[in-house]
Amino acid sequence: MKFSRLTIPLLAALICATSCRSLKPTPSAERDVFAMDTFMTMKAYGDGADKALAAAEKRIHELESELSVTDKNSDISRINRANGAEVEVSCDTAFLVDAGGKYWVETDGALDIRVYPVLREWGFTTGEYHVPDEATITELLEKVHSGDIAVSETSVQIPAAAEIDLGALAKGYTGDEIMAIFRDNGVTSALISLGGNVQALGGKPDGSDWRVGIKDPFSPDENMCVVSIADKAVITSGNYERCFTGDDGRVYWHIIDPADGYPADNGLVSVTVIGDSGLRCDALSTALFVMGTDGAQTYLRENTDVEAVLVTDGGTLLYTDGISEKLDITSDMPTEVISRD
Ligand code: ADP
Ligand code: MG
Repeated sequence: MKFSRLTIPLLAALICATSCRSLKPTPSAERDVFAMDTFMTMKAYGDGADKALAAAEKRIHELESELSVTDKNSDISRINRANGAEVEVSCDTAFLVDAGGKYWVETDGALDIRVYPVLREWGFTTGEYHVPDEATITELLEKVHSGDIAVSETSVQIPAAAEIDLGALAKGYTGDEIMAIFRDNGVTSALISLGGNVQALGGKPDGSDWRVGIKDPFSPDENMCVVSIADKAVITSGNYERCFTGDDGRVYWHIIDPADGYPADNGLVSVTVIGDSGLRCDALSTALFVMGTDGAQTYLRENTDVEAVLVTDGGTLLYTDGISEKLDITSDMPTEVISRD
């Protein structure tokens, strides 16, 4: 191509216009919320960022008021007080109770939303921590296994003796709902952390991946690795998150094995699940923790739609082969790959 004397200044103006446009920062907004008993942070980029964050905060509070097990007016409290009667609930509640039932089947009982009577006895929802005696646990486990849950699109019915809690699912579902609100409001890129449950919409505004640190369960102030993601949830269940030391000097944590009513102690101290759905990652992080080292690996070999990083109580870091390229391990723990071909 031959440039005339006029084309050069024209080209320069064009280049400046394009680069000046790309230099103009994408609008962004941030918001911190305390809800669901945890700190939440949200950062969104795009023309609708401000509006999206306001709508997301409203939705978080709405979901909390429906799903909280400690709020007396929530759907869950009304279900738990109903003495076996059918209760009208929001679509969110019905959907999540139904999801709880599906995950109970899929995880062979490791995830059981009916574990609440045992969880409360240990003090995990009240803060009045103590180690229950064995007879109490046996008695409460009878309530856990007292019968099935019936769900329609707007109602839930549980056995009279049973009580439920959506603590293993609620934050994951909330993450998915926030992503939908962001998309609807023109947000192009976002990262949220709902008490450590991280979820991303797209990648960073510059197109690169978000880098999400995963805590070292033996030293939770430090990261053991960093995972690079776009459009994914990264959700961790760890034994260090909500725990107490009993009079016997042992540490007890908030993930209960529905098989025996004690904090799940099947070889894992941390489980991170990485996948497209916050709800699925949240459900599976809790369930794989309960399944333990062998059960979790078997599950992951059979279910390749999610990736995972596990840490054993002996200090080995295991990760699924699909995430290896996206994982920077900073810890000096020995590592093993869970291969799935
Ligand atoms: P966090 O809420 O701290 O991020 P999790 O996602 O692992 O951690 O969920 C733990 C919560 O799930 C507990 O606080 C309790 O409400 C509930 N829970 C504990 N054990 C089970 C279980 N086996 N099945 C279903 N829910 C459980
Ligand atoms: Mg969970």
